[in-house]
Amino acid sequence: MFNLVKGTHDVILDEARKYSYIEVVLERTAELYGYKEFRTPIIETSELFLRSVGDSSDIVRKEMYTFDDKGGRSITLRPEITAGTIRSMVANKLFAMQDYPIKGYYCGPCFRYERPQQGRYRQFNQFGVECAGVIRSERDAEVISMGYNSLMMLGFQNLELKINTLGDEESRNKYKEALKEYFSQYIDTMCEDCKERFKLNILRILDCKVKEDREIIDKAPKITDFLSESAKKDFDTVLTNLDKLGIKYTIDHELVRGLDYYSGVVFEFHYTSSQGKNYGAIGAGGHYNKLIHELGGPEIEGCGYAMGIERLASVMEDDNLFTDIEQFLDVYLMPIGERAINESLSIANVIRMSGYTCDICLENKGMSQMFKKGERRDALYALIIGDNELDSHKFVLKNMMSQEQIEVKENELIDVLDDLFAEDEHDEHCHCGEDHECECENHHDDEHCHCGCHHKE
Ligand code: ATP
Ligand code: MG
Repeated sequence: MFNLVKGTHDVILDEARKYSYIEVVLERTAELYGYKEFRTPIIETSELFLRSVGDSSDIVRKEMYTFDDKGGRSITLRPEITAGTIRSMVANKLFAMQDYPIKGYYCGPCFRYERPQQGRYRQFNQFGVECAGVIRSERDAEVISMGYNSLMMLGFQNLELKINTLGDEESRNKYKEALKEYFSQYIDTMCEDCKERFKLNILRILDCKVKEDREIIDKAPKITDFLSESAKKDFDTVLTNLDKLGIKYTIDHELVRGLDYYSGVVFEFHYTSSQGKNYGAIGAGGHYNKLIHELGGPEIEGCGYAMGIERLASVMEDDNLFTDIEQFLDVYLMPIGERAINESLSIANVIRMSGYTCDICLENKGMSQMFKKGERRDALYALIIGDNELDSHKFVLKNMMSQEQIEVKENELIDVLDDLFAEDEHDEHCHCGEDHECECENHHDDEHCHCGCHHKE
């Protein structure tokens, strides 16, 4: 038996299905806002993250999986996906060929050498979006509201949106000066990380989680007193737009985020499950001004966020937000005897190619054992075939729940299944029909369902 690498976890079976469900809902919501998918490599040059995430960030200072490949190049497993996404926009000349903003979403594994604990892994999954080419703060508000709405689509109630502005460069420089003056009185008593932050990027001290340091930090100057008129106006625009959209937020002047590229508005989504568990931020993001240019693109600004799939899945599990994601087996084929077993692959083939899930009992068991196996597989129907059925070309189809059974002509099997499943869909599984209220609370028909509920077209 081999052990898992510390800080990693298997996502299998039902859990994998939950992850897929989350990803589909997030992707579909981003598509509603005109975003398209970006799939970029998991390995990138180390330089990319030094340039973007920044050498004062915890990520670059101590969390990156960096190694030299056999050709002596320094390679890093991506700790986040913004840098790779922007890099790909530049490398593929999207800024030269497409209208701004360029809107991309991504989803995939990230790697950080952190201390593993609840909601914190060394390999974890992020879903995120980047809107490259932001010229008005309304766009920032649009991005934030998309993040908020994505979480609503997943069923989150009572979300907490924390928001702050890091101002423009002029405001930030003045603020940093004031922080320097303030913290210089206390820095000798603060934690080692803070001492380093003091030298590298003083703003980051505000992010410190050490209790004794927090008392000092809480009395530090606030960014609001240093904002230029235009930085104030930009922040106000974001907030009034959120107000108009009915999105509640808390302004948190200590929110600075862990990556160096942010400027302007920054935000985090928090959620405490009904069991009282808080896994930290389930998503976070902000506006960036220099990142795109820094990575070789034009001098334009952007805004984005990333959500942690593991944390989303944990809180959703706690709050029973996974609905309708059971995976039933449509048909369990029960061949009785050698002849039926010989025919079973062809029969299952027709069923599967018609879009129904089907499994075969090839173990030549007795009837009652086959039914038990079917139940354990969550089969909806059992299809029973023996010598008589093969001779008469009439099979027995049994509803596993109601135990009702009907005789079905071989050449009508798929038509019968179509009828049965059409009824079932309408009765139980579909949330998109005219008579049903969809969970996303947006009325829509089958074709345009974006809520992520699983139904057959
Ligand atoms: P935190 O403050 O929790 O360390 P962060 O500021 O490092 O988060 P980002 O880099 O902005 O987070 O990543 C976005 C999201 O990715 C986070 O809000 C969180 O949900 C998730 N995330 C970050 N690090 C991890 C991790 N090690 N394991 C699981 N999820 C993570
Ligand atoms: Mg972190």
